[in-house]
Amino acid sequence: MSHCQRLCLSARFVLPVSSPVIENGFVLIEGNKIKEVGQRRELKKQPGLINVDCGDVVLLPGLVNSHSHLDYTSIARKIPPTTDFVSWIKSIIELKKTAIDYEKSWLNGATMLKNSGVTSVADIESVPSLLPRIFESTPLRMISFIEVIGLTQDWNNDVLNIIEKLHTCNLTNKKIGISPHTLYSTIPAILKETLKLAREYALPVSIHLAESEEEFLMFKNCSGPLYNWLKEKGRNMEDCGYGSPMKTFFNNYSPPQGVLVAHANYLDDDDITVLRTNEANIVHCPSSFEYFGHKMFRFDELIKAGINVCLGTDSLASAKMEENVVLDMFYEMRLFSKRLINPEVIVKMATVNGAKALGYEGKCGSLNPDAFADLICIPYDGKQSDVYDAVIHHKGDVLFSLIDGKFVYGTEDYRKILNDVTQ
Ligand SMILES: [Zn+2]
Repeated sequence: MSHCQRLCLSARFVLPVSSPVIENGFVLIEGNKIKEVGQRRELKKQPGLINVDCGDVVLLPGLVNSHSHLDYTSIARKIPPTTDFVSWIKSIIELKKTAIDYEKSWLNGATMLKNSGVTSVADIESVPSLLPRIFESTPLRMISFIEVIGLTQDWNNDVLNIIEKLHTCNLTNKKIGISPHTLYSTIPAILKETLKLAREYALPVSIHLAESEEEFLMFKNCSGPLYNWLKEKGRNMEDCGYGSPMKTFFNNYSPPQGVLVAHANYLDDDDITVLRTNEANIVHCPSSFEYFGHKMFRFDELIKAGINVCLGTDSLASAKMEENVVLDMFYEMRLFSKRLINPEVIVKMATVNGAKALGYEGKCGSLNPDAFADLICIPYDGKQSDVYDAVIHHKGDVLFSLIDGKFVYGTEDYRKILNDVTQ
């Protein structure tokens, strides 16, 4: 949209998420930002305003996917669901030795997210060399967390050079972060070097922690199948036996505040205090959780402690075996609703909480003045009291999606109306 052009979208319902549902509402967009949100009758007549009435729909902020692995999208349906975490790791290591078209996989994953209403994503990048070429192929607002893995001292530290080069990239809605893969796969010396780099360049940090019982046993008790397998592979196990994975990571490595922790399924009681003290953000991935048949996720206690919990899709390497399986945050919300009755809490996890975790609080994940105009539209003609419920039960693609005020996806009808006026 040119800077002088202003677009007003009106709808039966506007769901800002950061404030209550508005019946007969509007969202006024100027350039790449939201200028005003309110009730249609409050809208003042303004010259040059382009008005689009979207009818019986809900306009809501684009969804925030706080944990994905786009480059694993083509690994869908290759590994059947298992409760044996070590055998799953072995399977994925074997699969990664085969010819995977990571670029195609990443781009397909990005398209799936865009079409199903995601406008911001935290992606873990296992093939960062692809990024300079493909970064701009997707309009998604993105933090690309470059993954660092190393089981022995003689690791290839090229990845740190890539991070140094990429972090200065000057792309409007893309950022670089850093992701030591996890405690068991990133040995202490490498983890320290990675976190040092994160501090030096003020990069956001994400890590997988306490995903499995096997990982918990390895660090807490120096036992279990993961401990035995990694010891056999020659990993130095001297960092085990200092407490739970959470305590080992936060107490021994002093990471920056606000780390984005994927999973956090297996926790000691006092781990929750550790997470709160370090202002960690937790990403729960319901379909991946179900795939592995995990025994616990202490959601209620985390929320009670005031910890920010958001939602992610994880990768399709740990997704159901159904044909045409896609990355879909509406599906993740629906799956989590089996456990949590309150749909408003779930929608917040997929919007405002995700935005906070990614450092975009007030900028995306909610419809408010000065936020980026990242919003989506889904059909709905029911009651105001059921709007949140309608959101989590929406199936399929969205009617349209705007990122930075630009039309990026939608039905042909909306394309005709919005494409020209938003470019
Ligand atoms: Zn992951």
